[in-house]
Amino acid sequence: MSTHPSTLAEWQALAASLTFETRAFVDDQFVDAVSGETFSSINPATGETLAEVASCDAADAELAVGHARAAFERGEWSRLAPGKRKAVLLKLADLMTAHKHELALLDTLDMGKPVTSSLGDMAGAIGCLRHQAESIDKLYGEVAPTGEESLGMVLREPLGVVASIVPWNFPLMMTAWKIAPALAAGNSVILKPSEKSPLSALRLAQLAKEAGLPRGVFQVLPGFGHTVGKALALSMDVDCLAFTGSTQVGKQLMQYAGESNLKRVYLECGGKSPNLVFADCKHLDAVAKHAAAAIFHNQGEVCIAGSRLLVENAIREQFVDKVLAAAERMQPGDPLDPSSFMGAIVDETQHRRILDYIRQGVEEGAQLRSGGQALERPGYFISPTVFDGVTPQMTIGREEIFGPVLAVFGFDSEEQAIAMANDSDYGLAAGLWSQDIDRIMRVTRRLQSGQVFVNNWAGGDQSMPFGGVKQSGNGRDKSHHSLAEYSSLKSVWISLEG
Ligand code: NAD
Repeated sequence: MSTHPSTLAEWQALAASLTFETRAFVDDQFVDAVSGETFSSINPATGETLAEVASCDAADAELAVGHARAAFERGEWSRLAPGKRKAVLLKLADLMTAHKHELALLDTLDMGKPVTSSLGDMAGAIGCLRHQAESIDKLYGEVAPTGEESLGMVLREPLGVVASIVPWNFPLMMTAWKIAPALAAGNSVILKPSEKSPLSALRLAQLAKEAGLPRGVFQVLPGFGHTVGKALALSMDVDCLAFTGSTQVGKQLMQYAGESNLKRVYLECGGKSPNLVFADCKHLDAVAKHAAAAIFHNQGEVCIAGSRLLVENAIREQFVDKVLAAAERMQPGDPLDPSSFMGAIVDETQHRRILDYIRQGVEEGAQLRSGGQALERPGYFISPTVFDGVTPQMTIGREEIFGPVLAVFGFDSEEQAIAMANDSDYGLAAGLWSQDIDRIMRVTRRLQSGQVFVNNWAGGDQSMPFGGVKQSGNGRDKSHHSLAEYSSLKSVWISLEG
């Protein structure tokens, strides 16, 4: 069995050899849930049960919060010199690198994405950890511009206990985007992975222990949102909720914070991102491939999926044909096969939900140009689906589907394109394809969006903040902006003898 698999057979062999950690990680120990309850982790590519995982609830949350607070007060991490925290986090990054095939495979088995895609996520997760670790001993506080009789210092301090609640679509990468800056800043972190993808988080806990994170500084509580997630969000002793997930749950978390201790709530929520293609753009074949990948990558289960394609009517017919041709080459396949572009939908519920949206699209009068089908095979697969002639009033033109469904709209003018793009409750990402620099700058400034991708889709690196506006959320992942979110400012005014 290869530990660096590259073929279907090698990935299958590695999968067959895996054992799973299924217990919660609390105060440096792997333990069953207090209740003894478990839930099933299902492989959506086969429908088979992978493991029975500890189902934590309010009792586990209370214990973990207590340990997290105690660790914070002991100061082995929170008061450790930044350069020493950096060394531990870089060791964790090295361990993740050494185990990246196994970690990628855990995500693929748990939530169905192609294993090559999961490997790409590992690069994103490890890159984030390294970037945040490297930043912490290079950030300075401030000395305020006072007169000689005083000294004003602005210090950055960790917040205390951070609860990170993450989704299933990029399990380990979303985890890294949250925990890397929170740990780097000196906080104690409790991670609640999605109940649909808990396995890589528990393996990460083993690696964090090996890397030398002190007891209680990093804990993992698998379980459901309405049980353990809600308990963390309502806790009087959690200082910050760092959330990635749906807008609906994000709104609930803000309520929980208001009902409890006014903890900080950073939200990275849903999207219905517009991708604008102007008639002046060159290389239409390449742009069409990017437009298809923008929605079909990760089975469309991407917060920044380019799910609304807005095409200037002068080129719409020929452009849509090119998108259809590109989509044809993006059919789902076995997630363990390195040649698969798409894998399985995360579970039966999400599969049914996507098919319901497709039916609604047809009923509301959009033109189904390709796909729309569940595949006849075990597991939950849907072919790439393209609707043309979508209008802003249609359900599939407004709601986040979180599946491989593209809604194509036509426009005649720049003004109309901007108005359609901004006609959404969401504001996570937007794309813009044009060769006209004046137009690029005009339109970019007016798009209501946390990210604008010009002549690319989903570009960026660790130096760029990631987050949304409107109902897509209020937080920023990645870059030094995320590190800043996990600390508070302390103003110290010192009176000096003249
Ligand atoms: P979700 O909101 O259903 O769940 C996210 C997490 O919240 C899970 O861990 C879940 O258990 C937990 N949760 C659910 N109810 C809870 C409650 N009452 N209290 C506390 N925790 C609770 O989202 P999902 O289905 O896992 O993920 C898909 C969503 O995530 C999409 O809307 C997608 O756009 C969004 N997302 C956003 C980003 C971003 O960066 N903006 C990135 C990835 C995914």
